[in-house]
Amino acid sequence: MTTADILLEIANECANCELCELHHSRKKAVPGEGPPDAEIMFIGEGPGFHENEQGRPFVGAAGNFLEELLSSIGLSREKVFITNVVKCRPPGNRDPQLQELQACSSYLERQIRAIDPKLIVTLGRFSMARFLPNAKVSQVHGTSSNINGRLIVPMYHPAAALHQPSLRPAVEADFAKLPGMITGAGEQTESIVGGPKSENDPKQLSLF
Ligand code: URA
Repeated sequence: MTTADILLEIANECANCELCELHHSRKKAVPGEGPPDAEIMFIGEGPGFHENEQGRPFVGAAGNFLEELLSSIGLSREKVFITNVVKCRPPGNRDPQLQELQACSSYLERQIRAIDPKLIVTLGRFSMARFLPNAKVSQVHGTSSNINGRLIVPMYHPAAALHQPSLRPAVEADFAKLPGMITGAGEQTESIVGGPKSENDPKQLSLF
């Protein structure tokens, strides 16, 4: 199966999933979207009102801000994979509960394994907690940690910066670091295998 096939299979499973209570109020599941060979994956919290209507991640106000931030570093949402820790909307945008996070966990796990991104940006504390369970986003935002051979970069959730404008400069500064980090992640991979993995590597590294 190709990566695209695996992602489609996961999306279909999400659409019919009844592993937690969130399916009762679901209009559309939001499995995530982006190219199967994305080098960067953004993981948010869970779908909100607009995402539940459209079945697409980050299409409301937080999504507009995310697109603005991507554009500030020469990227667009079409170049990255965007998903969430839970694939169905928690009613009233409440926090996802432990049982819901656990029920949904394997979908994200399989997405990460299939896409194998060089770098994962976590947006908000639920997504960060999956990789850095004891970290505080106020202390570690914008720093990279190598976890199981992959760079994890926690950031504030864009919605937090919209609600609390004082966070905005920090979010913008954290995004500005990403191009350097992804280039570094590519160099690490090359040093492990002793040279570019394939003729495609120079193209991958010129993402920005
Ligand atoms: N907030 C999230 O965490 N995810 C979305 O998809 C939209 C808003």
